Amino acid sequence: MSIRKILIVEDEGIIAEDISDSLISLGYRITGIVYSGEEAIQSVTEFRPDLVLMDVNLQGEIDGITAAEEIRSRFQIPVVYLTAYADENTLRRVNATQPFGYIVKPFEEKNLHTTIQLALHRHEYDSLTNLPNRSLLREQLNQVLEKQKELPAIISVVTLSLDRINRINSTLGHDIGDFVLCKVAERLSNCQENINMVARLEAAEFAIVLEPVAKKQDAAKIARNILDLVAQAMIVKGSEVYVTASIGISLSPDDSSDGDELLKNAYTAMYNSQEKGGNKYQFYTAKAANNSINKFTQETCLRNALKRSEFEVYYEPQIEIKTGKIIGAEALVRWNHPKRGRVSPGEFIPMAEEMGLIAPLGEWVLETACRQTKAWQTEGLPPLRVAVNMSARQFEEKNLTERVSQILRETNLDPKCLELELTEGLILQDETAATQAFTMWREMGIRIAIDDFGTGYSSLSYPKRFAFDALKIDKSFIRDIADDRQNAAITVAIIQMAHSMNLTVIAEGVENEAELAFLCKHDCDEIQGYFFSQALPSAEFAALLKSDKCWKL
Ligand code: C2E
Ligand code: MG
Ligand code: MG
Repeated sequence: MSIRKILIVEDEGIIAEDISDSLISLGYRITGIVYSGEEAIQSVTEFRPDLVLMDVNLQGEIDGITAAEEIRSRFQIPVVYLTAYADENTLRRVNATQPFGYIVKPFEEKNLHTTIQLALHRHEYDSLTNLPNRSLLREQLNQVLEKQKELPAIISVVTLSLDRINRINSTLGHDIGDFVLCKVAERLSNCQENINMVARLEAAEFAIVLEPVAKKQDAAKIARNILDLVAQAMIVKGSEVYVTASIGISLSPDDSSDGDELLKNAYTAMYNSQEKGGNKYQFYTAKAANNSINKFTQETCLRNALKRSEFEVYYEPQIEIKTGKIIGAEALVRWNHPKRGRVSPGEFIPMAEEMGLIAPLGEWVLETACRQTKAWQTEGLPPLRVAVNMSARQFEEKNLTERVSQILRETNLDPKCLELELTEGLILQDETAATQAFTMWREMGIRIAIDDFGTGYSSLSYPKRFAFDALKIDKSFIRDIADDRQNAAITVAIIQMAHSMNLTVIAEGVENEAELAFLCKHDCDEIQGYFFSQALPSAEFAALLKSDKCWKL
């Protein structure tokens, strides 16, 4: 990795010098130390650092948060905040600027280093495919558009979505799904003569910027080739797997000369291809843009799903490294869609959140999981803790904490057997509500785990300020951990930090022996992932529990 350049914005000279010395000794280059928001923006304009460390409280016209917002929106440079103390209002403003990290002073050198590493990594690359992510795509697309401005050529922005990837995930498993995604990424990256850049946007969605072409038909021809390339058989574990893609194309300058607008238009065209059955490309037309009936139908289905009992809770075993035994289960909701089959929560949870349906859905999952766990206990199965995911949006409900205790009372489950999984982002959104809820839950005996640790605001100072029990290292850091030095370094740092704070560490998404061996060696406490088992329907999970299986770790 090249040497990363960092700008320090900090109005206390001694602290700034200290940070600078630390960073230099850690191998970073400092583009400057400045004392105000105005100077920060000027310095960024001039030196384009890779990351900015920003004190929240600065003297002068422009405070840290305003400067950070400008740096993010104008330059797309990640900002990590530094602050000694922040009130609720400040935290809300901080959160609105989508920070890449948040460090509370005073802090330790290794926390600073880890926070910066996480921020830089998250900023530019997709962890699964290693392709550039949306942020790097936008930056490079804008450069391409700028360069082509005066020339007569056409720039084509292509979005590509794999058809029916959910089917692959639910029938062959997520690991095969991920393999397919990586394979497609590799095929697209290797097709250099026509493609300028490939990025991964969402789950099974890619964006491609084509090399300039003279006419629209040339772009159509390339799109056809890309469809063929994707459709070629893949050999997965000895058998052939086929996928197709839906493609949308928008052209500069005809459809727009703005990068974001071009992407949006390509998306619209891509949805159109999907609706026509997939394995197709479509150019953007204004008419297609009006055709968003599809989303509406989906929302209606989701609204009715709870009434029609289309949801089901699956259970993914969590294994304690020390004993090799199942110590808990993560409850993961599934939607058995009458037409589409099993839909993954990655798809419908965001929709449920947007539609205000997450509260009733979340309560239903909690109640189902608690009732089931109690039933297993009554049956005399080995003791078990159940982990339930909670969405940030559920905190908007006023009586959330009461509902949780009510459900525990009704289902008669010992609160010690319940763990609630929350993500980092949630805390910054409403610190007071989060603190209150956590305190109350922990007093009742409920465990609190921070989910997807490292992918959110990466505030390594949370555990100091909030009462948690466990950290779950996100699966993107576990991937190839035995070979990927960056992932390895981050994971080891998280484990050490968590242990120094007396927290349990759970690694999620463990897929193979090498990953497992690494985690055992570095003293991780608990693990879950496809290596042991994917999430199972309740009956299958009960059978596994009954077998009282003990893994040799
Ligand atoms: P999460 O809480 O981080 O859950 C872990 C996800 O990783 C699950 O996906 C799980 O099936 C998957 N996974 C487990 N082992 C492996 C592995 O070895 N490799 C890979 N590649 N993946 C693995 P799932 O079930 O699709 O859930 C996705 C996300 O949806 C969850 O992420 C969670 O954020 C959310 N979710 C699921 N159920 C609920 C729920 O009841 N309420 C809320 N609010 N969110 C939920
Ligand atoms: Mg979870
Ligand atoms: Mg997770």
